[in-house]
Amino acid sequence: MYCPSCERLMEDDAKYCGHCGMFLNKRSELLVHLATNFSWVWRRSWAGFASGFIGWIIVFVIMRIVGENINPIVKDLFGGMICGVFLGTVSGIIEESAYKAFLGGILGTLGGALGGVLNLPLKDIFQSSDFLSSLTIFATWAIGGTFIGATSGIIERNKKKIFAGVLFGLIGGGIGGFLGSVFYGSILIQFNPQGWLIKRLVEGASGGLVGAVLWFFIGIIEKLYIFHRREDPKLEKKVCASCGKQNQLKFWYCVSCGHPLPTAAPRQKMVLTPYRGMERVVNSFVFLSWLFGVTGVITIPVIFFVFLIQDVILAFIIAILLILSTYLLVVFFRFLADILTTLMRPPSLETKTGN
Ligand SMILES: [Zn+2]
Ligand SMILES: [Zn+2]
Repeated sequence: MYCPSCERLMEDDAKYCGHCGMFLNKRSELLVHLATNFSWVWRRSWAGFASGFIGWIIVFVIMRIVGENINPIVKDLFGGMICGVFLGTVSGIIEESAYKAFLGGILGTLGGALGGVLNLPLKDIFQSSDFLSSLTIFATWAIGGTFIGATSGIIERNKKKIFAGVLFGLIGGGIGGFLGSVFYGSILIQFNPQGWLIKRLVEGASGGLVGAVLWFFIGIIEKLYIFHRREDPKLEKKVCASCGKQNQLKFWYCVSCGHPLPTAAPRQKMVLTPYRGMERVVNSFVFLSWLFGVTGVITIPVIFFVFLIQDVILAFIIAILLILSTYLLVVFFRFLADILTTLMRPPSLETKTGN
């Protein structure tokens, strides 16, 4: 097992860590478990921050291109959709799954649209007091979170898991939306920022806060319940309960029918890299590569159609430039990740543990 105190790998029968002297037993194993779960949730929370940050800034940029004189409900609808699609793709990006990013993106768009459209009517209902009007923002992103939270349960094909994800998405989205708007409001009142860049950073950070809190809550329920797999020490092969196909130990879903495989191989059978710090850097480059790719896929069509109304040729030129620069960013971060991966050689790394 890994020593929970210094993270060095010790033999399974070691009673104490040879490096730092920490006792190694059931209780320290629990600590390792807690630490891995926490960092798993933490990664999603950070990714939620990055996605929310970009989403909120992109909304501003697109609104600026569209012009200020649009109907406020259309504006809320549009803003909600873009923020929602960014928040929805988070776990797909982290797990490097285009399928999941797509499904989450669609659900996020729907939830964001619904929350956005209801924003003004709710504001009218709740305008009687300060406390109630802050509930409006709570409700707007609680609705968005509800849709986004459903994603993983749908992939697991399990109604109870969908419901659990929806519930945690609702709470996380609500609290995140509330905190994000409190943060935004208090920065405006306290510091009254004037610079263009500073204003965008504040908007980005408030969106980031929404994403971080939302994905902290969804991450917890995903780790503890939705993706939970029973660990079986004697597991040699994963046999699908639905179609009988024998799957490799490292798989979570049946390769033949897509049914979730409910057991996990014990950790000792997985290959772990000794370069855990470097692995984190590699993962963050891969994440950035995905994030830029998803950002491009979401925003380029929107910007293209916005310009198409004004000038067809300009729309094509801008779209091509955006596609090229997105592609360059995607390849660049992928390239950095690949370089570092080749540096982390000796052990053959076909197995990646945790996502
Ligand atoms: Zn140790
Ligand atoms: Zn199957």
